[in-house]
Amino acid sequence: MQTRRRGATAATVLRSVLDHGPVARSTIARLTGLSPAAVTRQYAELADRGLVREVDERRVPRATVGRPHVPVDIDVDRYAVCGVHIAVPHTTLSLVDLRGRVLHQEREPHRARTPEAVFERVLARFPAFLERAGAGRTPLGVGLATGGWVDPERGVVVRHSQLGWRDVPAREALRPLGLPVHVESHGRALARAEQLFGDQRTRSSMVHLFVGNVVDAAIATGGAVHHGPRSASGDVAHLRLEGSTASCPCGRRGCFQATVSDRAVAERAADAGLIPEPSLPLLLDLARARDAAAVALLRERARHVGRAAGLLLDVINPEVLVVAEAGVVHVPECLAEVRAQVGDRAAAVVPTSFGRDVLSVAAGSVVLDAIYGSPLDLCA
Ligand SMILES: [Zn+2]
Repeated sequence: MQTRRRGATAATVLRSVLDHGPVARSTIARLTGLSPAAVTRQYAELADRGLVREVDERRVPRATVGRPHVPVDIDVDRYAVCGVHIAVPHTTLSLVDLRGRVLHQEREPHRARTPEAVFERVLARFPAFLERAGAGRTPLGVGLATGGWVDPERGVVVRHSQLGWRDVPAREALRPLGLPVHVESHGRALARAEQLFGDQRTRSSMVHLFVGNVVDAAIATGGAVHHGPRSASGDVAHLRLEGSTASCPCGRRGCFQATVSDRAVAERAADAGLIPEPSLPLLLDLARARDAAAVALLRERARHVGRAAGLLLDVINPEVLVVAEAGVVHVPECLAEVRAQVGDRAAAVVPTSFGRDVLSVAAGSVVLDAIYGSPLDLCA
C-alpha cells in the first residue's frame, strides 16, 4: 500500500514536470498540492532512475532573487522507447523520446500479412534499426499498436479483419526483443498520447476518431481512456452512414469503414482517373497541389467522417473531438467540413497533434503511458 502510494506520488511529480518543465521543485509542490518535502523525495527517486534532471537555470526566467530554485525537466537524452506499428500495408518501427517526439522511424511494406511473417520481419529488422536510431539512448520498452480489437491485458490482437488476424499473441511474439512489451489498439494509444503530449483539453473528455485503412474510435472521460470488457470498446467500422452505398465485406451497404477507408477513397480516385493507381498518398499530394477534384473527394470523405462523429457526439457530448485522418490534417477544407457536420456537438474539433508521425507516436505512447503511469515500476 505504502509502495503503491509512493508510486502514485512519483507519477504525479513526473506528469507535472512533463506539463510544466523546466520547472522549479517549489512550483511543482504548489501545482500538485504535495508538500515540498514529498516533491523533493520523489524527484530524487525519479532522478536516480534517469527520468528527470536539473537544467541550466539561465534557460528559464528567474522569478525571485535569493536562494536559487534550480529548474528540473524530463531527461530526454538518456532513454527512449521503441514503437512497432502494424498497419494494413506496412510496419513502422520508431524511436520516440520521453516527451512523445519521434526521433527516428522506418517503414517497410509487408512481404506477407500473416502474423508469423510480420513478426519475423520485425524481429529481423529490430537490432539494426536500434543501432541506426538509438543515438546512445537506452530503450525502456517496446510499444505495439495496431488497428481493430486489441486486448492490452492479455497482449493479444483479438481481431484485425483487414489483416485477417484473430487471437494473435502479439506480446509473446515480441518477447525475443528482450524488452518489456506493451500492446494497445492504436486508436486508444493515440487518445492517450493526446492527453499526455497533445491538446490538454482532451483530459476532461474526448472522442478520438482514427481514419486510415481501419477506423477506430476511442472515448476518454475524467483523464482515462475507456476500454470496456476485454477492451472491445471503440469498434465503429460498421456504423451505418446516411448517404453512402459503399458495399462492406459484412454484407451490408453504407458501413463507415467501407465508405471512408484509405483504400476505398484511393480506389474512387483511381476509378475517376485522378491518380494512376489507388494510393492515398498520391491523392493527398494532388489535393495539396490544389487539384479541385482531389480536394472534392477528400471533402466527401470528411463529410462522412463528420457524420459518423456526430452519431458518437450526440451520445457522449465531449469537450473535444480529435480527428486523425490525413485530409483533416493536410487539407483545410476537410477540417472545415468535419466542423460543419459536427456543429455544436463538441466544444472543439481539432486535428491530431501528431501530424505525419501519428503511427509512430501511437506505438511509442503505449510504453510511455506505462512509464508515466508508474515510473518507479518501469525503471527499477
Ligand atoms: Zn459492414
